[in-house]
Amino acid sequence: MIYKIRLKNFEIIDYEDPISKRIIETCKKSYGMNKKFFGQDTYFFRIIICNSEKRFKKEMKKLYAAWAKGGAVSNSKIVVRGPKEIIKCYIKYKGTKSLEKMLTHEICHIFMLNYPERFNTVKGPIWLFEGMATIVEDRKRKFPQIPKDFRFMEKNIFSYRRNKKKTDKFFTILYPFRYFLTKYLIDKYGKEKLLILIGTFAKKMKKADYLRNFQRIYGKKEKEMIKEFLKS
Ligand SMILES: [Zn+2]
Repeated sequence: MIYKIRLKNFEIIDYEDPISKRIIETCKKSYGMNKKFFGQDTYFFRIIICNSEKRFKKEMKKLYAAWAKGGAVSNSKIVVRGPKEIIKCYIKYKGTKSLEKMLTHEICHIFMLNYPERFNTVKGPIWLFEGMATIVEDRKRKFPQIPKDFRFMEKNIFSYRRNKKKTDKFFTILYPFRYFLTKYLIDKYGKEKLLILIGTFAKKMKKADYLRNFQRIYGKKEKEMIKEFLKS
């Protein structure tokens, strides 16, 4: 059996259970938060709801991790644990237990991957890709203890690749760090500037292109900006 509900901007699919009204309303609300932030709609995408570990694993493929609650598996598809599965995962691994916040986070990735046009599938630096999602989901966060070990910082925080392994520092340092750095950029330089930067992400963008665009838009290098943030 397959349950499907098609709305104007996205489709919800569940291969196990019927889709509840609560889920539909939550998806709409999470979509709305992103639409408001980006000031525009995004392109049509699918939301797959998983009500078992097995299904979640199957749908997440390479992105699967026991602690993960959802993921943007392509620029037109997100996979999330259903309400009960989120709670189970939360009890074991913490993070969030809110379906709404998690959906808002993953939908933000879809907006970013298709901003300002469809299939601009370059993520840019992970700190910004995840930082934006944590800003839009709007979860209260504590400022992290920034490690003195710069190699940890470079390897994890300034990385352009996804972190595969969950370390203890993952949630307590990395996500909050990304959140506060992104928030700093928005508060000090404005949301519009950040959207201009994200708008320069294009399919074959290289790291050097990104760094050049960053400097052009902000009038300083990314590294200088991070140092400025750390001093603030
Ligand atoms: Zn994310």
